[in-house]
Amino acid sequence: MNRITPTHEKMDQFQQQNDHLLVGGMDLDAISGLLGKAVFYAYDKKVIQAQIAKFKQHIPQPIKLHFAIKANPNPAVVNFISPLVDGLDVASQKELLLALQTSTDARDISFAGPAKQIAEIEAAVLAGVTVNIESEVELERAIEAGKRLGKKPHIAFRVNPAFELKASGMKMAGGPKQFGIDEERLVEILPTLDYGSIDFHGFHIFCGSQNLKSEALIDAHNQTFSLAEKLVELTPVPVKSVNLGGGFGIPYFPGERRLDLAPIGENLKLLLAQTGIDLQKTELVIELGRFLVAEAGIYACKITDKKVSRGQTYLMTVGGLHHHLSNSGNFGQVIRKNYPVAIGNKLNQPAVEPVNVAGPLCTPLDSLADKIALPEAHIGDWFVVYQSGAYGPTASPQDFLGHPNVSEILL
Ligand SMILES: *Cc1c(COP(=O)(O)O)cnc(C)c1O
Repeated sequence: MNRITPTHEKMDQFQQQNDHLLVGGMDLDAISGLLGKAVFYAYDKKVIQAQIAKFKQHIPQPIKLHFAIKANPNPAVVNFISPLVDGLDVASQKELLLALQTSTDARDISFAGPAKQIAEIEAAVLAGVTVNIESEVELERAIEAGKRLGKKPHIAFRVNPAFELKASGMKMAGGPKQFGIDEERLVEILPTLDYGSIDFHGFHIFCGSQNLKSEALIDAHNQTFSLAEKLVELTPVPVKSVNLGGGFGIPYFPGERRLDLAPIGENLKLLLAQTGIDLQKTELVIELGRFLVAEAGIYACKITDKKVSRGQTYLMTVGGLHHHLSNSGNFGQVIRKNYPVAIGNKLNQPAVEPVNVAGPLCTPLDSLADKIALPEAHIGDWFVVYQSGAYGPTASPQDFLGHPNVSEILL
């Protein structure tokens, strides 16, 4: 039987020149010279713009786009994206402060995240951002904070729906979950809530992340609309906003292909045409993190040694899992798989040499690529990991083993 080995999606989002990968028009030696560093993350503005344009091309107009900052909280990135989207979603006080210093209005910032501290809730109330309430205790705390501060808290309920997002990299709803308030319980709370003590905004229905199947997202959107309609019906005051969640994935591993937004957009058009929600009064939002930024980022590190162990070749690099935990396979993966990688100064040379790529940490977990064919590489060449613009430096244990922290640049 002829088995076809799954390949990585083609990484064609960046420009190149004479076999050199370009980020924002600069090759890796130039970026390295600019930073004075042999290891860095570089993010390309044009690729971020292209991802936002792809969203706007397919997703029907009344639906707003928010950026979930946690995917890439680099201040230059967040400030670049802020005027290109309709709002920002934050998940901590630090992210809240970052969002408030961008061009985005506080009205278009929402704060989600379980186990919020009282001080975080107070900061959100002071700032006038929407607090996505994750529990009944949190609701009480927000109301109390509002009374203390003489400011009505802007409240949206994060709903834990009864359904789940199928085929998701990360399921965040359906069944018992630490996120949000169960849909069944919310049905009891809504008619009895003291709406006078809050500024009621609406609902946040987020069910999962990293999904590459349009059918699964369509199914989730259908169920999200029905649930939203039911909740809006039960709310005796106007509902200003319904956050439909996000979950648009990007291809990381062999066999994965870019998400097709066309059928998702077509289905949303149908849902908008049929919905009982008054779209003049209620805005609908989709919140995306990695979809906007992951494709735009690379992690680049110089090869510092090349050795052979019992017949296998190892490229040793100055970068490692302390900068890029998810590429090492230790951030939510069950079996380690290779990200798409390249030798950044030999892009079109034939992949003739099977190698393993490892970093400077004294642990076998510090693997950047396993048994992969690359162009013949030498000390001083650039090892590049694609799809690295999300969950990079801030999702990695940078102080583990005490090597220097990683630099980032938006070009
Ligand atoms: C993490 C998170 C996101 C972003 O997820 P991505 O997979 O990066 O798009 C969006 N919304 C909420 C509530 C989240 O927790």
